[in-house]
Amino acid sequence: MENKIECLICHNRFTNMATHLVVKHKLNKKDYQLKFPEAKVVSDTFREWQKNRMTKLYKSIDVDYRKIAGSRSFDFVSNQKLRLLLQRDYQYAKKCLQSKLWKPAIILFGSLIEAILRESTKTNTFETALDKALNDKIISEIEFHKLHVVRDSRNYVHLHKELSEGETKIINDYWAKTLSDICESLIKKFKGGKLL
Ligand SMILES: [Zn+2]
Repeated sequence: MENKIECLICHNRFTNMATHLVVKHKLNKKDYQLKFPEAKVVSDTFREWQKNRMTKLYKSIDVDYRKIAGSRSFDFVSNQKLRLLLQRDYQYAKKCLQSKLWKPAIILFGSLIEAILRESTKTNTFETALDKALNDKIISEIEFHKLHVVRDSRNYVHLHKELSEGETKIINDYWAKTLSDICESLIKKFKGGKLL
């Protein structure tokens, strides 16, 4: 197995080129591989090390998670098990959004936002997390109000709850996209990296 791979632009050698490409050549991996379709961006040894590390991580919880791990690392969350659950549900939420499945998207993005806020504010309920997040300027006032509007929408997993409210004004694309936007802005705020 090769230890290092060569950058086809400057011919320096690296185990993982991602940072180098961005810093030196202002290219992300995709751009680079468009230019050089055959080029590798990580060395075999690095890829092997990474694979072993991820396998170990996922094995510690549930082997199936490996297949569905999301494209975000949530590395700002220190609780490793929670991090894996976030990766899983983020992936699910994105798929729902792409497939225009508004209700599960709303429920999932709502629960992701709750988990991120509870973890970052060290609080035990969504409500106290929202108050503290507003206070600490983790969320804006507009986001705070929007989250209050949809806070109870997750109870619609109980169909009788949804039924009892008559026509719901929350299960639609607007709210699915709004929650997705808020979730993305939180991940950005905490500098959540992408999963390779
Ligand atoms: Zn280079």
